[in-house]
Amino acid sequence: MSRRLENKVALITGAGSGLGAATATRFAEEGAHVFVTDINLDSVANVAATINTAAGGGATARRQDVTDEADWDVLMEEIIAARGRLDILVNNAGIVITGTVESISLSEWRKTQTVNLEAVFMGTRAGVAAMKVSGGSIINISSIEGIIGEALTAAYNASKGGVRIFTKSAALHCAHEGYDIRVNSVHPGYILTPMVTDSIGTLAPEVAAEMHANLIREIPLKTMGEPLDIANGCLFLASAESKYMTGSELVIDGGYTCR
Ligand code: NAP
Repeated sequence: MSRRLENKVALITGAGSGLGAATATRFAEEGAHVFVTDINLDSVANVAATINTAAGGGATARRQDVTDEADWDVLMEEIIAARGRLDILVNNAGIVITGTVESISLSEWRKTQTVNLEAVFMGTRAGVAAMKVSGGSIINISSIEGIIGEALTAAYNASKGGVRIFTKSAALHCAHEGYDIRVNSVHPGYILTPMVTDSIGTLAPEVAAEMHANLIREIPLKTMGEPLDIANGCLFLASAESKYMTGSELVIDGGYTCR
């Protein structure tokens, strides 16, 4: 049986850790060559090395700060020069800075929008330019926090809500222009990655335990998700199995946003 991403070329940002690393690994298992980028070159080099020693596709690691506009053009030129095409782009890199409308500072707000929203715009724009002749799939990682509000994540909510609706605008543009490019968003719930464990880890152990117990109570499936749950959703959106989906929101959250 042929693999689902055989001969495809993919770029995954923020792939040195968590969801990006799992998605890159899953894509490679299905035959893709993955360009994995991250602000931290060591971490992404490790991910590429693991992929290259396992059965599957291949991986190329590169440092990228997704907020650097000029570097998006350089990176795309490198990918086209090396592989001749780009079929799949996952705009995954992101940060969370907690704070309410009253406590978050303007600089924290701006940093959050720059990494989580502006960079997704720049990445999508670069992806459309690279894919408009041969087609492709662009996947923007939003969050359940792009759909529902949380008092403690004012800036993160705004950035992820922006990703959600920007994705629909880009999807419509590509469809109107007749480009064979689909653009969709993914909305993970609470998934065990360093982003979540690091923020829980900054709390006192008893506070962290209580927070964890409260969280599990709120998740209908009574468990946090695994990075592979999100990687498999991205794989579906990257593959031809989702060929009739564009501008869609794929929610993977154990039922958290049902109510
Ligand atoms: P993670 O483990 O912290 O991974 C994010 C990666 O992005 C890290 O390797 C980080 O590098 C990198 N990064 C940060 N700023 C960057 C920049 N300017 N340029 C390039 N890379 C940068 O987090 P994750 O949980 O896998 O999150 C991945 C995506 O899923 C994010 O967009 C996040 O908002 C979203 N998400 C996660 C969850 C969840 O429960 N985990 C839920 C909903 C949505 P450093 O570590 O070196 O900073």
